[in-house]
Amino acid sequence: MTFDPAPLAERIRDIPDFPKPGVVFKDITPLLADPVTFRAAVDGVAERFDGQRIDRVLGIEARGFILAAPVAYRFGAGFVPVRKAGKLPWEIERQEYELEYGTDLLEIHRDAVSPGERVLVVDDVMATGGTAAATARLVEKLGGEVAGLAFLIELTFLGGRAKLPGYEVVSLLQY
Ligand code: AMP
Repeated sequence: MTFDPAPLAERIRDIPDFPKPGVVFKDITPLLADPVTFRAAVDGVAERFDGQRIDRVLGIEARGFILAAPVAYRFGAGFVPVRKAGKLPWEIERQEYELEYGTDLLEIHRDAVSPGERVLVVDDVMATGGTAAATARLVEKLGGEVAGLAFLIELTFLGGRAKLPGYEVVSLLQY
């Protein structure tokens, strides 16, 4: 069956000037609340990697967790959280990444990925691609292989893919 993005797009709400002026926030809560579109989003991401070996599915805090966990379940894979600085309780690996103004840190537990494991990275939105690129770096610091990066929404006008050369990048909806 071909994937129909229209019902998903209908349940994504644009919130102008959130969390700050000039940003149009993609609110996916209506899509998540609807059983048909929630399932379509999870299956839509997973189906693009069907037939591949996926050992871990990594979700990026916080909305990435919501999509990555059921994708992991579907693959029979483990789930791994990547979090903002100071949230993970055990030994961590960290990666700095650039924001519009300044930098921030992303962290992963050092035992979350083992060398040679194939990791699928999942998040709700790819904007500038900085978060995703830092996450891919974390996987590789632990010796893992990035099987791909999957997003519900890609803001193509921000050119995030340029930060992810050589990786398989998929998105269900492009704006
Ligand atoms: P970036 O590093 O610029 O690709 O930003 C990606 C991260 O910021 C993701 O974890 C998204 O959840 C969040 N994000 C960025 N822009 C938006 C947006 N317009 N609407 C919702 N979330 C966004």
